[in-house]
Amino acid sequence: EHLISRFNQPFSLDGVAHYSTPSIGVTVFGDNDVHSAEELLKRADMAMYQAKSAGRNTQRFFDPQMQAQVNARAHLESDLRHAIHDGELQVYYQPVMNGHGRLLGAEALVRWRHPGRGLVMPIEFIDLAEQTGLIVDLGTFVMRTACEQLAAWAGNPFTECLTIAVNVSPRQFRNAGFVDEVLSIFDETGADPSKLKLELTENLLLGDVNETVCRMRELKERGVGFSLDDFGVGYSSLAYLKRLPLDQLKIDRSFVNDVLSDVNDAVIVRTILALAHNLELEVVAEGVENAGQVDFLVSNGCERFQGYHFGRPVPIGEFERLHGFASCA
Ligand code: C2E
Ligand code: CA
Ligand code: CA
Repeated sequence: EHLISRFNQPFSLDGVAHYSTPSIGVTVFGDNDVHSAEELLKRADMAMYQAKSAGRNTQRFFDPQMQAQVNARAHLESDLRHAIHDGELQVYYQPVMNGHGRLLGAEALVRWRHPGRGLVMPIEFIDLAEQTGLIVDLGTFVMRTACEQLAAWAGNPFTECLTIAVNVSPRQFRNAGFVDEVLSIFDETGADPSKLKLELTENLLLGDVNETVCRMRELKERGVGFSLDDFGVGYSSLAYLKRLPLDQLKIDRSFVNDVLSDVNDAVIVRTILALAHNLELEVVAEGVENAGQVDFLVSNGCERFQGYHFGRPVPIGEFERLHGFASCA
C-alpha cells in the first residue's frame, strides 16, 4: 500500500510531471510447496495480472485458486484449439420476427459440443477465443456455416428472403484477411451477400475507426448489412454512430428485460428507438421474453424482435421444423 501511494504522487522526469498507477502481485514463501525461483516469480506474476484486471493501482496476493483458474484456462484453450478442427462446434439459430409474428431471419449463435462437458455456451469460451486469436478460425467456421445455410435457403419461396446475422468480434474484424475471406466464402458457397448481416460491437470503436469504416464499406458494396450489437451498454459514441455505415441497431437485452418495471430502462429504450428512427436505422429488440414487453416495444415503434418469447436458439433442423419449412430445406 505504501509503495502504491508513493507511486501515485507526481514525480518529475526531465522537468515533466509523471505519476504511476502500479499493479503489484505478491506471493509469500517459506513453506515447502514452492520448488524454484521460477515458480515463485510465476506466482507473483499471476497475482500481478489479477491486480491489473481488478482495475490497476492495487495489489493482490497469490492464492492457489488463482493457479487452478490459470490451469483450467490452459486446458480450455487446448481443448478449444482441437474443437475447431474436430468439428465440435455447432451453429444454433434464433429467430428474428416482426410484430406480426412473421419470421425475418435468424441470428447464428455458436455452441461447443465438448466430448466430456456436454454443451458449452459461448460465454465460457468466446473471450478466451478472442484473447488467444482462436476467434479467427472459429469465426470463419460460423460464417461459412451461415453462408451455406443461406445458399440452401435460396430459391425456395418460404426461405429465400430470410437473413442470417453473424457475430463478428473485434479481433476477427481487424484481422488483415477478413474482407477477402468473407468474399471468398460468398464465392465458395454461392450465398447472396445481401442476406448476410454482420453484428459488430461498440468495443470495435476503441480501435482505428477509419480502418473499420473502410472495411465496412468494402463489404457493403457487395450488399452485406451491418448491425451494432448490444447497443447502449458499451462505448456508445453518437458521433461514431453517424460515421459508421450501419443498417441496424440491436437494443441490448438488459434494457428490454426491465422495460416494464424500471422507468429508466423504459426511457432508454424509447430514446434508442427514436434515435434509430431519426438516423434511419432498423432496430431489433433483443431478449424479448413476454407479451408485455412486445406491447411496450410495438407501441414505441419497434418492428423487429428477438428473444425467448419468439424462440430460443436451436440447431438448424429444429429451427426449420419449428418454422414449418423442414421439407423445403
Ligand atoms: P449476443 O450476440 O448478444 O447474442 C444474444 C444472446 O442472448 C444469446 O446468448 C442468446 O441465446 C441470448 N438470448 C436470446 N434471447 C434471449 C432472451 O429472451 N432472454 C435471455 N436471457 N437471453 C436471450 P448466447 O447464445 O449464449 O451467446 C452469448 C454471446 O456470445 C452472444 O451475445 C455473442 O456476443 C457471443 N457469440 C455467440 N456466438 C458467437 C459467434 O459465432 N462469434 C462471436 N464472435 N461471438 C459469438
Ligand atoms: Ca449478436
Ligand atoms: Ca446482443
